Amino acid sequence: MSLTVTILGATGSIGRSTTDLLAQHADRFRVGAVVGGRDAAALARVARETGAAFAALADEAGGADLAAALSGSGIPNGAGESAVLEAVARDADIVVAAISGAAGLKPTHAALRLGRTVALANKESLVCAGDAFMRDAARYGARILPMDSEHDALAQALAGRPLDDVRTLMITASGGPFRTWTRERIAAACAAEAAAHPTWSMGMKINIDSASLMNKGLELIEAHHLFGVAPARLDVVVHPQSVVHGLVYWLDGAVTAELALPDMRVPISHCLGLGDRLTIARGRPLDLVALGSLTFEAADEERFPCLRIARAALAEGGAAPTVLNAANEVAVAAFIRGAIGFYGIAELVERACEHFSGLHRTAPEGVEAALAIDAEARAWSAAALTRMQAAG
Ligand code: NDP
Ligand code: MG
Repeated sequence: MSLTVTILGATGSIGRSTTDLLAQHADRFRVGAVVGGRDAAALARVARETGAAFAALADEAGGADLAAALSGSGIPNGAGESAVLEAVARDADIVVAAISGAAGLKPTHAALRLGRTVALANKESLVCAGDAFMRDAARYGARILPMDSEHDALAQALAGRPLDDVRTLMITASGGPFRTWTRERIAAACAAEAAAHPTWSMGMKINIDSASLMNKGLELIEAHHLFGVAPARLDVVVHPQSVVHGLVYWLDGAVTAELALPDMRVPISHCLGLGDRLTIARGRPLDLVALGSLTFEAADEERFPCLRIARAALAEGGAAPTVLNAANEVAVAAFIRGAIGFYGIAELVERACEHFSGLHRTAPEGVEAALAIDAEARAWSAAALTRMQAAG
């Protein structure tokens, strides 16, 4: 019997890696609904290629284009929020949550409320509303499978062992394209340089977050919620080869790590396999001799202040991570369009975190509350950005 997989963010980097794997294992899987953001033509292509049962575009204005591009295919489709929620409500054994940014919160949460098994790539869901997501997953009997490579690695290394046996959970960072750059050179970097990731192939936003190490900060927050581990027991190490992804330090001094070449199809296949291992066509074997050495270094929070700022938000708790994420999305977009320099990202995010510090002491109760704080923090950040630019 084949499993039905619905893909939220089907046209993105994770979405395409997922459809690639599903096509390789067409005997085991069938594609349920596919959801995209704005690109109607790309979504129609994915829907046709995968023979999806339904296609939904978040952007209501693109509905006519989607319908035209799918005409004759027999694939039902729709646009706007209600169509996205209809896609989530369709029958599925696994929902891959791979929309980028806070836009992923509502559809991902809707899948949890239906008690689905959710393969979670959209880390923003946990960063913005982690308490609510984990509580509701338990309440509605949903299962969250971490798809982010570091968290999938931790889940594999933990292998269901109790956290009482664990001293520290460690995730690795590649260090990004600026790992060896001086602060002066990083300060002058443009978006194309920041997006040139040395080991992983990913979407634009997460590439910039990887260059600033904000991605690692978001992942610490993600790990805190996924595994229920206190911030003090979470750590980061820079590992430029991106072969070791996550390490569990046990109380007795033993360490269990997961290794794989940097290819998101590995964690994706682990999630889709639901405990079984799937082969990956054209997947390269990990050749340790060819690699020769694996190196590790401490993360430098002087040159990469976003990691420090994210850790502080995690330690503060309440809605601080929600604010952090919103300000970061505003700052990264501004950096990509050339409105601020690279360190402008950290500056704006830190200002937003300082401004909102103590204002929302409790973590958002639910998705609506998280999105309200997200909107408030975005509006404040956009205004602060204007002031920063005016000040030169
Ligand atoms: P991409 O930018 O490549 O893709 C994003 C996807 O989300 C696209 O399909 C996009 O459609 C869709 N989308 C955007 N806005 C909306 C919206 N409002 N409603 C519905 N769909 C929308 O991102 P990635 O695939 O790189 O990342 C996706 C998520 O996975 C992120 O949260 C990221 O942090 C996480 N992740 C990614 C990794 C990677 O290797 N890429 C690794 C680990 C985690 P459209 O293009 O039409 O807008
Ligand atoms: Mg990751």
